[in-house]
Amino acid sequence: MVANEPVLDRQSDGTRSAARDRSEPLLTVDGLEKTYETDAGMTTAVDDVSFAIEEGTIVGLLGPNGAGKTTTIKLLLGLIRPTGGTARIDGVDVTESPAAASRSVAAMLEGARNVYWRLTVRENIRFFARIGGQRADSDRIDRLLEQVGLADRADDPVNELSRGMKQKASLACTLVRETPLVVLDEPTLGLDVESSFELRRELRRLADQNERTVLVSSHDMQVIESLCNRVIILNDGSVLADETVETLLDLFRTRAVRVTVTGWLSNDVKTTLTERFGATAWTSRDDGTTVTHRFDATRVQGNEFYELMAVLRNSGTTFGSVETLEPDLEDVFLRLIETERRPADD
Ligand code: ATP
Repeated sequence: MVANEPVLDRQSDGTRSAARDRSEPLLTVDGLEKTYETDAGMTTAVDDVSFAIEEGTIVGLLGPNGAGKTTTIKLLLGLIRPTGGTARIDGVDVTESPAAASRSVAAMLEGARNVYWRLTVRENIRFFARIGGQRADSDRIDRLLEQVGLADRADDPVNELSRGMKQKASLACTLVRETPLVVLDEPTLGLDVESSFELRRELRRLADQNERTVLVSSHDMQVIESLCNRVIILNDGSVLADETVETLLDLFRTRAVRVTVTGWLSNDVKTTLTERFGATAWTSRDDGTTVTHRFDATRVQGNEFYELMAVLRNSGTTFGSVETLEPDLEDVFLRLIETERRPADD
């Protein structure tokens, strides 16, 4: 294979995207910045954001409200112009050539806003295929309907579908364009548990069998944890972390233990546990027999752990068990954001 060979054209309308070297990631974001002038002064929504996404990966975009996720997505889709920096999709600069770049990306925006509610699911898919320059033969549409679990509702107008089904219709309209990059903004927002599970399962299946590259923004950690290879966490417009899900979980793995004892602890003992050993959470059951304490295990190492056990023994309670707490992505996210905010709040 020739190194740095340009990637073959994927546009079905016959135009080719600017030649992207094979060595170049499918999406490259470099020093992206967006400021808005408001009555209160300048707001920086996206502040020097850089990252790259390799072909065939699924990357999560996380962040608290106002972190800059939607603005970043709008910049990538060419819906707004950056104040600084660049974004290249499949070798095309989004700001210089928004129309050409848009041929390489399809987006499912929050709340299924991109589908036409008066048209049937099938008509919507056909319409989006055509505007994406794709052939919309019935077999292909049927396959897609089957994939997203809407085969039996294909000829119903979208406005007669449940919210979860509307999201699936929107997903089908996004996928039918067969763009190399797919952006999903809050794909499970507002769905009930079952619909969210089904949509997640569908996205996972597509991820497993497709070589699509996906950027997915979500507040739903289960979506991110079950789908993504990597997570980019934004906070105050900047990249706070850009790691694999495994690395993020490892950051906090085995750093907390839960000690369960039977009996009540006095306030003095609780104060000792907090001050000497950094106990961070207390739960007592109604019958007053079991007390669970969560400690930051980095503070409870070696001899300190035996000292802690001695304090509990001397408190008149009976030792029950010790377990190591495994963090989930939500824990990691909240702790990273909390750590980042702490200096400013103090
Ligand atoms: P959420 O999770 O709440 O959707 P987000 O991470 O998507 O948040 P953005 O919508 O990108 O965040 O907003 C980032 C910041 O930019 C916020 O402080 C927001 O108020 C500000 N902002 C976004 N759009 C505009 C605009 N058109 N004019 C002024 N400020 C804006």
